[in-house]
Formats: sequence, C-alpha cells, structure tokens
Amino acid sequence: MQPPEKNLKIVENSLFARIARWKLKSSNVAMVLGKTIHLSGVSKEKFLRDTPWVAHELCHVRQFKEHGYLKFLWLYLVESLHVGYYNNKFEVEARMAGVKEEHLAKNKLTTPPPTAV
Ligand SMILES: [Zn+2]
Repeated sequence: MQPPEKNLKIVENSLFARIARWKLKSSNVAMVLGKTIHLSGVSKEKFLRDTPWVAHELCHVRQFKEHGYLKFLWLYLVESLHVGYYNNKFEVEARMAGVKEEHLAKNKLTTPPPTAV
C-alpha cells in the first residue's frame, strides 16, 4: 500500500516510537518526526487501514511543515510541559482531524442523503 502523501516515510519498529510508547504507557504508538511516521506495536499495514489514525498523524506532518522541524519540536515540547499531552493544542488539532476522518469514513458506508431543497 502506498503512503497517503508524497515524500512520506513510514518506519516500523521504530526506536523513537518505542520510547514514546513506554512514556505514554500505550500498547501501540505512531509518532511523527518531520515527514516520517514512526510506528511501534503496530504494523504499517494495520496503521494505514485505520484512516482516522492516519489523518491524525498527517496533521502532525502538516504541523511540522508549517512551523519547521526544530521550531515545531520546541513548540510541542513547551506546550506539553505547560498543559500536558492531552490538552496540547497540536494534539487537540490532530485529534480533531482524526474525528473528522472517522465521521467521513462512517458516512461513506451509508447511502448519501437525498438532496435538500
Ligand atoms: Zn498526536
């Protein structure tokens, strides 16, 4: 399967993701560094099938692009220290992207509603 964005790399069994996984006490983790999605505890195939999760991580890819590599890492760290992981504004934004994608995926399964007049 092709990654959903150009120049995007996906690394399985990543050491970075393993550290994040241990820190977050999570059984599977995907984390973004620049244009690379690092995975631990989940295969690339399984990850790509979970479109809301992919949308979440792609949002982080965009954030890296928007702010620049080091600046984003710094902003993310400062934000995490101030408000924690869950309320981190970059996580909130990425979570919204995931929720939106989940909603779209659900709607695809049902028949489109009749055109409103
Ligand atoms: Zn995230």
